[in-house]
Amino acid sequence: MSPRGGPRLLAGAPIAAEIRAGVKEAVGAYERRQGYRPSLAVVLVGKDAPSAVYLQQILRSCRSVGVHGRMVEVSGRASNAHLRSVLADLNGDPLINGIIVQMPLPRHLDLETVAETLDPAKDVDCITPLNAGLLSLGKEGFQPATARASVEILVRSGIELEGRRVVVVGRSNVVGKPAALLLLRHHATVSIAHSRTADLRGLLRSADVVVVAIGRPGFVTGSMLKRGAVVVDVGINVVDGTIVGDVDQASAREVVSAITPVPGGVGPVTNAILLTQLMTAAERQAAAEPRGRRALRTGAAQALH
Ligand code: NAP
Repeated sequence: MSPRGGPRLLAGAPIAAEIRAGVKEAVGAYERRQGYRPSLAVVLVGKDAPSAVYLQQILRSCRSVGVHGRMVEVSGRASNAHLRSVLADLNGDPLINGIIVQMPLPRHLDLETVAETLDPAKDVDCITPLNAGLLSLGKEGFQPATARASVEILVRSGIELEGRRVVVVGRSNVVGKPAALLLLRHHATVSIAHSRTADLRGLLRSADVVVVAIGRPGFVTGSMLKRGAVVVDVGINVVDGTIVGDVDQASAREVVSAITPVPGGVGPVTNAILLTQLMTAAERQAAAEPRGRRALRTGAAQALH
């Protein structure tokens, strides 16, 4: 509980700032060692306004830590083959360390095309089958940034997970499923609920920690939650021009002990996580690079920056 009697608000901004400070230091050390800054390519397919805003935020975050961000715009009418060739060029570009592709893609394009084309070593938001497989095996790899952010907020806020009952509502490959896998790594007892779950209310009432990622504004209400539960509200929905979560924050705050606000909870941490994964990618690529190629890259990067 907060000193004023309401639940503790698990704000994302201070956690994101702490993560970004670590990344900024790592970027500085990398630049001193390598002679150039790490780079992230953000691919926007079509002129989807909310996605463009989100990508601009990522580029701003990149600048704030000294990472070079490159927006790559692809026509919304592009074919799968064209998108594949754009990604293949980025895969082969030694000046690009990480690639993210903004979702959702226009309907005629195929997510599998992207997932199978992207180089897993540059897949810093974990959409390739290789990184998804590593995640499910509990091995090192890249993880979906939003899912990792949801768990990072709990861990960095000192919320105990080991042995606790956690319910993740939502089973998408980008949020619910990977969040559940990450929670298992922290030894939580995890259940995953979805649209066919028979008694969601009963399941939620048994949960010490609840992570909600369903895309339905205000769907989980206070009466569905156990008193004292901790809630991570991943949802981002626009209702009458206002951003609201998947949890009805007003009624939930009557019963929970801690909750992430929306906006200002998971969102800011997601961007910071992307940057840490980019740094990991850059460090791994630098370590694996033959010397001659490294010299060439350093010269090209210095000319660019
Ligand atoms: P998604 O792909 O549409 O998946 C939604 C999931 O919710 C599905 O597994 C679905 O079940 C489940 N679901 C839908 N209605 C349900 C209900 N009535 N009861 C129980 N489960 C239900 O969505 P997503 O991409 O995972 O995104 C989820 C939310 O997170 C959205 O609000 C999105 O905007 C937000 N988000 C936030 C961030 C961030 O940085 N904060 C990033 C990404 C997404 P089925 O599988 O049975 O259909």
